[in-house]
This record gives sequence, C-alpha cells and structure tokens, in this order.
Amino acid sequence: MSLTREELRGGFRGLGLEAGDSVIVHSSLSSLGWVDGGARTVVDALCDTVGDGTVLMPTFTRYDRAYDPEMSPSTVGAITEACRNHPEAVRSAHPTKSVAAIGPGAESLVADHELRNSIGPGSPIHRLIDERDGQILLLGVDHTTNSALHVAERLANLPYRDQLAETTMRGADGSAETVEVNQVHCSRGFGVVGSIATRLGLEREGRVGDATARLVDGPRLLSLVVEVLDKQPGLLLCDVPDCERCAYARRRIADWQ
Ligand SMILES: [Zn+2]
Repeated sequence: MSLTREELRGGFRGLGLEAGDSVIVHSSLSSLGWVDGGARTVVDALCDTVGDGTVLMPTFTRYDRAYDPEMSPSTVGAITEACRNHPEAVRSAHPTKSVAAIGPGAESLVADHELRNSIGPGSPIHRLIDERDGQILLLGVDHTTNSALHVAERLANLPYRDQLAETTMRGADGSAETVEVNQVHCSRGFGVVGSIATRLGLEREGRVGDATARLVDGPRLLSLVVEVLDKQPGLLLCDVPDCERCAYARRRIADWQ
C-alpha cells in the first residue's frame, strides 16, 4: 500500500493544519512508509493543505563545501531537498543554515539571512513564528530536529552561543569566499522539550502514513522554553559523554552564574 497526495493531505488536516497556516517542517521521508511519487508528493500535499499559507523547511548544508544556493544539496532529508527543488521555492543565502520557503511572501521571509544570525532572533525561522504565528510540524522526527529551539537559546541570551565557524560561499563569478558564521549549538538534548510540550498541550500528535507526527504551536513553545531556560539554562544540553559543545556550554554557564 502506498500513500497518496490525498491521504497525506488528510493526515496533515487531521493534525490541525489548515488553509492560510504558516508552518516549518522537519521531516523523515522513510518514516511515512512508501509514498506515491516520493518526497515531492509530500511537499505538494503540504502546499495543498496550507493553500495560501507558507511552507518553510531547513535546507542546511555542509560547512566544508562552498555554498551555492542553486546547487548545494540539503543535508537534512529528502523532503527538504524536494522542497528546495520545487519550482515555487525560494532559498536563503546563508552558507550553512539556509532555508527554503514556498508561498506568498516567501521572498521576504528568506531575505537578509545574516551570516552570524543563522537561527536567532530575526532569522527566517524566527520571523515565520513571530510574525506569521508559525507552527512547527515534526513529521516522523522528534524535537532534536526542532530548529526553533535554537531561536529560544538565543532569545534566552545564554552564554554559550558565542562560537563562530568558518565556511565558504560561491560568488557570482564562481570564486569561493571564506566567511564566518555563528556555530549552531548541539541539539541532541532537545528531546526533553517533547514531554513539556505534550504536558502543557502545546502540540497535537497524530499519524501521517506510518509516521508519528506532531504539530506544535510555535509562538507558545518559544515563549515557554525561553521562560524555562531563564531558570534552568542547561535544559537543552545533551548527556552524550564526549559532546564537546555541551561540555563547553556547561563551563560557560558555570562561569556565568
Ligand atoms: Zn551535546
């Protein structure tokens, strides 16, 4: 049995996604089971569901390759790659944390994606949540993929968000230019947010094909997590023993308190 565009649409509507909504989608194609037409069908079904709303997806790329918005493949899954290749999609210029968006105003949403503010206040992901009441769809994935939580880390002004990294961008003439971007922190500890969001009724869970899917209230999640981080700045750090980034973050928090 394969999943059709209509069935996907039904699944998204069942989660509460409606015409006019703006949504950030984090996804796993394989979690859905077999989809008729593959990743592109999922993108089309999302666009059908939100109608004149907006669909936005991360299309993150490798730090060790020169970024070209037309050519560089997304490293965060087949559905995001299909999104950036969609004829109506526009992609931002950030060399490591680009996003692609489809819908009215997509151009303005992805514009001015600052090198050192990839997923912080005023970045495309934050603007979608803040200015368009954006929701977050986790399709067969959990909160460890939820980039909005990086926005919360920034809004909470945590002391460990100061690291920079070098990468390269491809210029119009084909030359590669070295630039500095902000280092996005480890997200392996973000799963903790799932139980908080469920308990407080900030997300609706359902099935889309074989996948467990969650639709999360973006603005409410952001304000809640910022509030919790204020009292518990280590909330989002992971427990992986050799995680250098989280070890660094714990040192910074200890110095700061
Ligand atoms: Zn970590």
